[in-house]
Amino acid sequence: MTFEEIGLDPNTLKAIAEMGYTTPTPIQEQAIGLVLMGRDVMGIAQTGTGKTASYTLPMIDILSSGRARARMPRSLILAPTRELAAQVAENFEQYGKYHKLSMALLIGGESFGDQERALDRGVDVLIATPGRMIDLFERGRILLSDVKILVIDEADRMLDMGFIPDVERILGWLPPLRQTLLFSATMAPEIKRLADRFLSNPKVVSVAPPASPAESVTQRMVIVEPRDKREALRALLREEEVANAFIFCNRKRDVAVLFRSLERHGFSVGQLHGDMPQSMRTETLDQFRRGDVKLLVCSDVAARGLDIADVSHVFNFDVPSHAEDYVHRIGRTGRAGREGRALTIAAPEDGKYVSAIQKLIGKDIPVTPLGDAEPLPLEEGERRGRGRGRGKSEALRGDKPKAAKKPERSAEVKSAPAPETAEKAETAEKKQDRKPEPKAEAKPEEKRQRPERDAKRGRRGRGNLPADEVAEMDHGDDVVAFGGHTPSFLLRDPFAK
Ligand code: AMP
Repeated sequence: MTFEEIGLDPNTLKAIAEMGYTTPTPIQEQAIGLVLMGRDVMGIAQTGTGKTASYTLPMIDILSSGRARARMPRSLILAPTRELAAQVAENFEQYGKYHKLSMALLIGGESFGDQERALDRGVDVLIATPGRMIDLFERGRILLSDVKILVIDEADRMLDMGFIPDVERILGWLPPLRQTLLFSATMAPEIKRLADRFLSNPKVVSVAPPASPAESVTQRMVIVEPRDKREALRALLREEEVANAFIFCNRKRDVAVLFRSLERHGFSVGQLHGDMPQSMRTETLDQFRRGDVKLLVCSDVAARGLDIADVSHVFNFDVPSHAEDYVHRIGRTGRAGREGRALTIAAPEDGKYVSAIQKLIGKDIPVTPLGDAEPLPLEEGERRGRGRGRGKSEALRGDKPKAAKKPERSAEVKSAPAPETAEKAETAEKKQDRKPEPKAEAKPEEKRQRPERDAKRGRRGRGNLPADEVAEMDHGDDVVAFGGHTPSFLLRDPFAK
């Protein structure tokens, strides 16, 4: 089926063609026609399936006739996060560029003034997060009596974030005679209840989740003790050819901690979490898009809905506790057919989460020791006996581990004063984290020469390089190594059933 056959209008088709879309995705094939017919739709589809266009495209066609009155939006889209809301707004702008539709984005963290002014002019499409929507409604700034189409996007996420009562409240303010579209990755009982209550004779369309992560994403996992995770991350950042990367943490307070740690170690890094003001989030994202910041430490909520085409790596600093989040996270790389790499740092106690992820994606994530750049499928029992740093070819041949063949960069590792105990390693990590930033007055040329100079003198490099190039990770940044501490993945198989 083509977009023409679905029956979209020529101006919308022109905009889609300019986006480079040639064929509708399965959810678009199923949903667009139904929306154009005015049906209520319950769409079971995840991010990455093209679900946003499956409702925005027909909405543009429907709304192209008619005019909006001041403070009376003609359609409302509720999204759980500001980022998703902003992404939907961007899609409206792209797909609706040959239509004269007006739009307002009501999200927390931005000034009320601008949003109220936009509403006063009259909007065809109102895109909002539930909290801000309620604020503005209660201030009497919006009248919802003219809403003809309502979309609830990512209802499952609304549920996770505790927004369902807010959504129900908003639904109570809408006219009963309207078209309602509800999208959710899962059909949890609460979502089903919401659909039963607020949708009228809906047509259910469901597409397979993009659960098998893109073939173009190579996955790898390392297993270390929790206290060694930051060090492991830095080692991976050096080992991999990272152009830019998302680094996911499970909790937002860990985002801030890891961000500060990486910054102190001289990495070009930004952070994105739910507690940041919207202006800072937008600025950080712009810096990341432009390549001014190479690494972005973020939480799942903040990263949801982000669509940045060219990201070389995703790191899971924590194994996500919801398996679907793993799929979302690693789907941030390898987009549009590009190669991507997804690396997960697991702790021995993460076994049950890893199992859930592997079940969902239908395959095992290869576990490799730090120092092996390529993922190696492990033979049964091999994990137990394998020495750290054992060369890839040896492992593939199944030879007995010989004296560990150190990767080139391990010279740097060796030259570090290896702590004798894990506690020492941790103390060293903390000390490094406390190290003051390099003096600002150092000349850039001088800074760039330091790694070589340091190498000649057998000195360890530190993050005393310009913090704007990922390449510096090969040189800067102390490496503490595991020292006398034996990581648990060498001792036992944490995922043994
Ligand atoms: P979504 O599931 O809405 O988050 O969309 C995921 C990605 O697919 C976005 O980057 C869209 O720009 C892209 N996309 C949506 N529809 C199509 C299509 N028909 N062909 C190619 N890419 C698409």
